[in-house]
Amino acid sequence: MAGKKRVGVLALQGDFQAHQRALERAGAEAVEVRTAGDLEGVQGLIIPGGESSTMVKLLEEEKLLDPLREFGRRRPIFGTCAGAILLATDVANSPQVSLGLMDIQVERNAYGRQLDSRIAHLNPQGMDGGLEAVFIRAPIIRRVGRDAKVLASYEGDPVLVEQGRHLAATFHPELTGDARVHLMFLEKIP
Ligand code: GLN
Repeated sequence: MAGKKRVGVLALQGDFQAHQRALERAGAEAVEVRTAGDLEGVQGLIIPGGESSTMVKLLEEEKLLDPLREFGRRRPIFGTCAGAILLATDVANSPQVSLGLMDIQVERNAYGRQLDSRIAHLNPQGMDGGLEAVFIRAPIIRRVGRDAKVLASYEGDPVLVEQGRHLAATFHPELTGDARVHLMFLEKIP
């Protein structure tokens, strides 16, 4: 039997521990990533939710932006919420540096202040019974490039998108105990 897949979780800020538990539920080994050296032994990476502007600041301080871009040219990355903002080529409201690995435009905090968090029922392709999705101060994906594919939408906006080896969700699949989105990501790891 093949060994467990070793997946890194960017652990500078945000809800990385919930992703570690979700990866373990999905049968993978989770490794905290804080330095470029930590990327060496991992086969894929999750960038968690949190506050993307803070994450960018920490990534700049740790000189991790280029190593992450380089990693993403070879290996799968799954970004959730703030992580999805980091994967995008184009960030609006307010514009900030990103990795530019997925051809999507995201608008940060797009659901507004009052109604900023909710639980929604999604019907992603190929998922029987649908999926509960937790949104927390989520961005909206405003534009999806030709090479990106929408796997689930909510109220007409894409919320789960893949592009080649990468996956982005504007919700938090690590918070529901349902491992299927993490399993979908693990399938992208050869
Ligand atoms: N609003 C946050 C941002 O702009 C994202 C929120 C989240 O990751 N739950 O980075």
